[in-house]
Parts: sequence; C-alpha cells; structure tokens
Amino acid sequence: MSNRENRSDKLAIIPRDQHKISRKSISEAALKVLYRLDKSGHRACLVGGGVRDLLLDKQPKDFDIATDATPEQVHELFRNSRIIGRRFRLVHIRFGREIIEVATFRGHSDESPKTELNTEGRILRDNTFGEIEEDAIRRDFTANALYYDIRDFSVLDYTHGLKDIESRTLRMIGDATTRYQEDPVRMLRAIRFAAKLDFEIEETAAKAIFECGSLLANIPAARLFDEIVKLFHSGQASRVFELLRHYGLLAYLLPALDEWINNDPDESMLDFIDQALVNTDARLNNQQHVSPAFIFAALLWPVVHQQANKLQTEKMKSIPALNQAGSDVISRQVRHISIPRRYSQMAKDIWSSQPRFFRTKGKYPLRLMSYPSFRAAYDFMCIQSMVGLVPKQTCEWWTEFQLRHKPPETRPPHRPKKPSEHGHRRKRHAS
Ligand code: ATP
Ligand code: MG
Repeated sequence: MSNRENRSDKLAIIPRDQHKISRKSISEAALKVLYRLDKSGHRACLVGGGVRDLLLDKQPKDFDIATDATPEQVHELFRNSRIIGRRFRLVHIRFGREIIEVATFRGHSDESPKTELNTEGRILRDNTFGEIEEDAIRRDFTANALYYDIRDFSVLDYTHGLKDIESRTLRMIGDATTRYQEDPVRMLRAIRFAAKLDFEIEETAAKAIFECGSLLANIPAARLFDEIVKLFHSGQASRVFELLRHYGLLAYLLPALDEWINNDPDESMLDFIDQALVNTDARLNNQQHVSPAFIFAALLWPVVHQQANKLQTEKMKSIPALNQAGSDVISRQVRHISIPRRYSQMAKDIWSSQPRFFRTKGKYPLRLMSYPSFRAAYDFMCIQSMVGLVPKQTCEWWTEFQLRHKPPETRPPHRPKKPSEHGHRRKRHAS
C-alpha cells in the first residue's frame, strides 16, 4: 500500500485505466497550470465541476484547480494571475477569455482564528489552509469533491462521490443543516446542480432546505444576484423555478412574486413564466444570447402587470402606469437581489414597450423597432401570445413586419419627461 492510501482509510484511488477522464477533454490552460504547479513541487489537482462533468460525459463550464501552494506562491508562478476574494482567497489565472480558478486546500476551520462565523453560524471568512483530505470534506456535495491528480492521472475519492455520481445523488458532505448554516447559498447550489445534472437531492439534504430557507434573507444582495443568474442560466431554468417553489425559497428571493403566487394566481401568467424559462433554456442550448434582464422581466411580470392595472385610470394611461409599477417593483426587489441598473432599466423598457405592440399604424411600428430593447420586448410579447395573454395575430404581425423592414438605427425609448423639461431642451443645448 502506498503512503497516499495510508493517509485516509476512506480514500479510494481510481487509477487512469479505470476512469474515463482523458487529458484531451481538459482545457490546455488548465493542463498548463496543473503541470507548472506540479513541476514546482506542489500538489495540483483538477477538482469540482470539471471532474464531475467529465465523469458525466458533459463539457465542463470551467476548470477549477486545488493545490497545496498558497495564493502568493501561485501568483508568483503565473504572471497572468491575480489574487481575488476576501471570504475565500483564490487566484485567477487568465488565458485569453478563459479563467482558471486556483484554490489552496482548505483545512479544518472550527477552532481556527482565521475562520469568522456570524451569530447564525455563517462563515464570513475562511482562509485556513490544510491538507487535501481536509479540503475534500469542506466542499459542498460529494459529487463536487473528486480530484483528478495530475501526478498520475488518477481520480481521488474521499467522500464516496463516485458512487453518488453513478446513482445521480446530490449528497451533502457532513450534516446538511450545519452546512447550510455555514453558507445558505449551498441550498441554491443544491437546486442548481439537481436541475442541471438531473440529480436527486438526498433526503436529509432536501429536508433541511425547508428548515433553513429563511437564512437566505441574510445573504448579501450582490451574491444572490450572481447565484440567481447561475440558476436561471443553467439551461434548466424551468426545472429550477419548479424546485425553488417546491422548497419555498421564492419567498426569500422574489418575495413579491411569491406573494402573487400565494394569492390565487392567474394560470396563464404562470404559464407565461414557464414558457419564458423554457425559451431561455432553448436559447442557451442553441448558443444564443440570453440576458438577466429578460429573466427578471419575465419573473416579475405578473406583479408589474397587476400593479399597473391597479394604477391605470382615466388619467394614467397604460405606459405611465407600467413605468410607475415597474419602478416600484424593482425598488422593492433590489433590496433582496441587487440587479445592476443596466438590467433593471432593460426590464422596465421591456415592460413599458408591451402596449406599444398594439400600435401598428403610421410611424409607430418603425419607431418601436428602433428601441435598443426591441428584440427582447418582441420575444417577450410573442411568449405572451403563446399562452393567450396577447392575441396570436399581434406576434404574427410583428414577425411579418420585421421581414419587410430593416431595423432602423437604434435609439433610446421615449421616457416620460418631467413637465419642466418640455420645450426647453433645444434652448439649453444651444446655449
Ligand atoms: P459549475 O459547473 O457551476 O462551475 P462547480 O461545482 O465547479 O460547478 P464552482 O462554483 O465552480 O462550482 O466551485 C468549484 C468547487 O468549489 C465546487 O465543485 C465545490 O467543490 C467547491 N465549492 C464552491 N462553492 C462552495 C460552497 N459554497 N461551499 C462548499 N464548497 C463549495
Ligand atoms: Mg466550476
């Protein structure tokens, strides 16, 4: 038995000829980093999604590397690198558009002064370095804790991750409740991986989500934005939405939508959300562009639509009502998930464009086509038509119209001016 096998009785080493990971499917950049770390006398392994996805015959989204070199040592080895993060210090090594993330093995954190917890047990900072076997059990799920060792191309399994990959089980390492308390975002990761990989969340890890959901309320809004985008851009957005509803997590992410759903929601609006998410999945599978603005516009549409209807009176027409409702809904939403302004503005433009699709006479259609968010607003309208919220003919009319007219130069949508601005613009520019 080799030394390595003695280090942990749980460790299973799967030699090169008994697993399917080939260097051909690992990016050149990742291999370069692995080899250089190894040559410099460090341990270096591919870990996380890279190993998991290759074992599942999927193309990894990116490659993560774990090493015993400190962030400073890694930084010194690669000119094209920088140290990032506070909560977890990591090194990003850039190769053109590809970024390889290198993390130093993390050690046991409980008693370490370098680990900071808040009163709910959430880890605020953790930069205690350790051995590879400690690193393995600090990862979230067993499927994410497999290492591909560049020394001999073997796969190292400290947590029975291979068995779980084979049975498509997402199993939390350690006690699920404690691990969610340490980092509530792990609940969202569970949902993302379950949806994306078509894995079953193991029972205790699933049950604990119902108990721990409210902890998401304390996650910084910027981190939640990143996670929400990953969830809805996973290629399985429709399933993700179903799971978020099942586990009661919408209340902490999109509370206005959650309230709307709990109040006898209109079925065609629910169908609209699902159709918009199915559409996003299809676009991603076709390598087409998707924007977080579209996702938020779709998810918040029932609420905006309802509020705009309430505001609409003789005096307030549909577009100002949508503008007002859109702004109100966004200001409440950004307290939970910080949506960058360029996306929230685009969501508002998509909403307030909707009534304009009914103006098909005169100069209106070409003007609408010149708005920067026209394509997204048009897709949005056609998805509404698929579920009966807008007449089918309206979508058909616009589809046809675009075939006959080249899009004019884009120009910003007309936004209501403040009364004081009317008529004074030109003068001010001239002076
Ligand atoms: P993806 O396909 O989205 O990249 P991934 O599993 O590689 O999936 P990353 O966010 O890239 O996910 O993280 C890399 C690895 O780091 C994970 O596989 C996991 O081992 C570990 N990890 C990431 N986030 C956490 C977390 N919040 N708690 C514990 N371990 C984590
Ligand atoms: Mg990854």
